[in-house]
Amino acid sequence: MGGMTFVDIRDRYGITQLVFNQETDAALCERANHLGREWVIQVEGVVAERSNPNKNIPTGAIELLVETLTVLNASEVPPFTIEDETDGGDELRMKYRYLDLRRNAVRKNMELRHRLVMLVRQYLDQQQFLEVETPILIGSTPEGARDFVVPSRMNPGEFYALPQSPQLFKQLLMVAGFDRYFQIAKCFRDEDLRADRQPEFTQIDCEMSFVEQNDVLEIFEGLVKYVFKTIKGLDMTEAFPRMTWAEAMRLYGSDKPDIRFGMLLNELKSCTEEGLFTVFDSSEYIGAICVPAAATYTRKQLDELTEFVKRPQIGAKGMVYVKCEADGSFKSSVDKFYTGQQLASWAEVCQAKPGDLLLILSGETHKTRKALCELRLEMGHRLGLRPKDQFAALWVVDFPMFEWDETVERFFAMHHPFTSPKPEDIALLDVDPGKVRANAYDMVINGVELGGGSIRIFDRKLQAKAFEVMGFTAEKAEAQFGFLMSAFQYGAPPHGGLAFGLDRFVSLLAGLDSIRDCIAFPKNNSGRDVMCDAPSTIDPAQLDELNITLKPIK
Ligand code: ASP
Repeated sequence: MGGMTFVDIRDRYGITQLVFNQETDAALCERANHLGREWVIQVEGVVAERSNPNKNIPTGAIELLVETLTVLNASEVPPFTIEDETDGGDELRMKYRYLDLRRNAVRKNMELRHRLVMLVRQYLDQQQFLEVETPILIGSTPEGARDFVVPSRMNPGEFYALPQSPQLFKQLLMVAGFDRYFQIAKCFRDEDLRADRQPEFTQIDCEMSFVEQNDVLEIFEGLVKYVFKTIKGLDMTEAFPRMTWAEAMRLYGSDKPDIRFGMLLNELKSCTEEGLFTVFDSSEYIGAICVPAAATYTRKQLDELTEFVKRPQIGAKGMVYVKCEADGSFKSSVDKFYTGQQLASWAEVCQAKPGDLLLILSGETHKTRKALCELRLEMGHRLGLRPKDQFAALWVVDFPMFEWDETVERFFAMHHPFTSPKPEDIALLDVDPGKVRANAYDMVINGVELGGGSIRIFDRKLQAKAFEVMGFTAEKAEAQFGFLMSAFQYGAPPHGGLAFGLDRFVSLLAGLDSIRDCIAFPKNNSGRDVMCDAPSTIDPAQLDELNITLKPIK
């Protein structure tokens, strides 16, 4: 431009404009004209004030009048543009992740992650927590998922498991008298993947001795508040609400409710006349949400919502609506079964105002509540009630201790097998284990389970009882957890703790939809690292050394 060549030079800290002037050095300018995207260069020159500053970038007030130029390394043309808005699709960005990481948006997430980890270390250090590393090659530590396993060459036919979490080790550290432990811990779970799951992920893993539930909640509520204050400038002055699991399920249909907005679940079964509409008659549960000012929804919009709830992952069979018209009358998809008076009684239960819309689902209680939860979140999303820069945290407490699994017909620990029952429910272990509540808690922010933990069983007999309810024989419990049970014989303190998902924490703070963009080198939805092409087959010689023969793949 007018005998000048401008080049943007980018480093981790941003972009600076370089100026090459034909009049001062024509040969140098000519060389600059041949530079390409992503070349690595070294320049020397004079920093000068720009006559037309660029207010959009931090270095926009200055430019560098270049005197010498060295090309340190040329570059191929990158497969996608390295800019905030890139033309690279997901797979391409993952394949060339080192280029993707050059983009501001991705690098910023990594910087945020670093900042969060530093703050966590600082806070926990101040609270006397000791950072201890625990091993990666271990025996199984069940957290309800499948293990990744690693064959042992030195012990043919035997396998290590990668930790699903450092659970047993942190409990042993409490037996060891460490009092307060934390670790930024890599965990591995061989699960089907979703947007907020990765086969390997990081936890802020913590444990404390001589505590009761309230002590744990207070310390870690403090941590979350400290992080939000420092990173977001947000003062979360109020104590986080505590909601029982039963209440969360009843009011939100979820154990991780998004409490940024209302539209709670209302139960209509008890106020619905029998014998009129067979679908409702045969339903264990009828529930409604009241969508404010949505009575004007068109047939098309309502059909869309019906399609939404019928998706296999939501699983409702259909949806009933009631429009509470502005003139006080009602219009519904079940007009031929129920009188205006009946519809009015539903509206009353839902505290609906004229102009509101009731959306009603029915069926088996648990499934229907879950479907209503999805519908509520969808409506919250459509009505703009879930802004990414607004945060609402709560503790969900008093989880059931066990979950009944119909396929294998036995109880499983809802949190994990070392979770303590509430003392007042211990007697129920023998008579009605399904009713036992645990001293377990989750921290939930904006409908995301940020972390969870429990007070642990520290008594050998009670632990044996819990194993028995879960169908472990004494031998199996001994084989899997014998070392923990033995440790409990040597003066184990009462203890409890929790773990936060670090990746989720970062993505929540960054307002991301997926945890992938806050992990430097993530896996794709099939658990593959497309950059280094893992997992991959291994050399027959390696297999032989490990004493492993592969079966043909089914
Ligand atoms: N180990 C648990 C988990 O990974 C957390 C805890 O109970 O501390 O969910």
